[in-house]
Amino acid sequence: MQSTATNLASLDRASMESMLSDMGEKRFHAAQVLRWIYQRRVTSIDAMTDLSKMLRLRLKRRAAIRFPEVAARQVSVDGTVKYLLKLADGNCIETVFIPEIGRGTLCVSSQVGCGLNCTFCATARQGFNRNLSVDEIIGQVWVAGRELASFGGVNGGGAEGETGRDAGCPPSPPVTNIVMMGMGEPLLNFDSVVCAMRLMMDDCSFGLSRRRITLSTAGLVPAIDRLGATCAVSLAVSLHAPDDELRNRLVPLNKKYPIAELLQACRRYAGARNRRRITFEYVLLKDVNDSPAQARALACLLGDVPAKVNLIPFNPSLGIEYRRSPRPAVERFRDILISRNLFTVTRKTRGDDIDAACGQLTGRVADRTGRSRRFRQPGGQPPAAA
Ligand code: SAH
Repeated sequence: MQSTATNLASLDRASMESMLSDMGEKRFHAAQVLRWIYQRRVTSIDAMTDLSKMLRLRLKRRAAIRFPEVAARQVSVDGTVKYLLKLADGNCIETVFIPEIGRGTLCVSSQVGCGLNCTFCATARQGFNRNLSVDEIIGQVWVAGRELASFGGVNGGGAEGETGRDAGCPPSPPVTNIVMMGMGEPLLNFDSVVCAMRLMMDDCSFGLSRRRITLSTAGLVPAIDRLGATCAVSLAVSLHAPDDELRNRLVPLNKKYPIAELLQACRRYAGARNRRRITFEYVLLKDVNDSPAQARALACLLGDVPAKVNLIPFNPSLGIEYRRSPRPAVERFRDILISRNLFTVTRKTRGDDIDAACGQLTGRVADRTGRSRRFRQPGGQPPAAA
């Protein structure tokens, strides 16, 4: 296989159609190719038997199908599965599958590492390496689907590359929902993320509706507007603080795009989606952002935004100083929001026994920023720690 060959997994339908028409072929073959790759999980062009032999030969000369490999798989006591995926350059990323009754959510990464430096997040600690390519993003969905089928999921067995069945593994639902909440900031990898999300939604691929895809951002204002104009999936915003002073410390990106500007972008985004609610994520950190006064300030802030609040218990990681808010503090915080008519849910922590919970994903990343090295030095501090 030529490594310079176009990876068909990096093309959405429009780009596959233009490749075919550049070859002097009919554009409609793109739909067939997509179905083979994503619905029948085929990685061999030869296997695409409803394409003519000549077309298969011509495709093989210029293209191949490559996805990341599964380097490790861990299953939590609650059924959450974490996959460590090895990329062609040796870096590793993590993808997490969260089964619930009637739904299966896949948490997908968008970058190798992360450069945003949120002070409570484990991914931030290893620094940023690079953006993921389209095939590496959609590949997480493809690989998880194949693995879930192989390990006895309800979407059937017998997939290519079957690695065996776990007798003790409960049946898992297929992937019904995708959250772009894994490693990295998806809006800093805009084009590849949007292209991969288009593939997730394509009827010849996974056919997910845009409501079942949620993109979570730390708050890149111009990119939120761009997303609203091009691919208005469900939006989640990592808010975590009701005022700029605190948010500057927790989410340093706030210094560039402060809360007022961020909320304006959220109002515009909601407007573009018939005022469908935006989710505001709020990690509760003991004695940092969990007081009743902060709950009231948050309710006030979100008063005129179509919002729902997702309270996230802090998931600890080695070397991160924050602590999880105790249950009574979480309940008090939640009750204040609810009493002010904010739709609020407390996220159940899943997979924390295998470090698969929010903010615990680390993969195996060659850190090009030197951040993890600096941090390991005696007395070293995380660069943006307050
Ligand atoms: N960069 C994007 C998406 C990745 S983080 C963003 O910031 O939204 C996904 C979510 O996990 C974010 O809401 C993030 O703030 C949260 N998170 C990060 N570290 C966490 C931790 N240690 N405990 C709980 N949630 C965490």
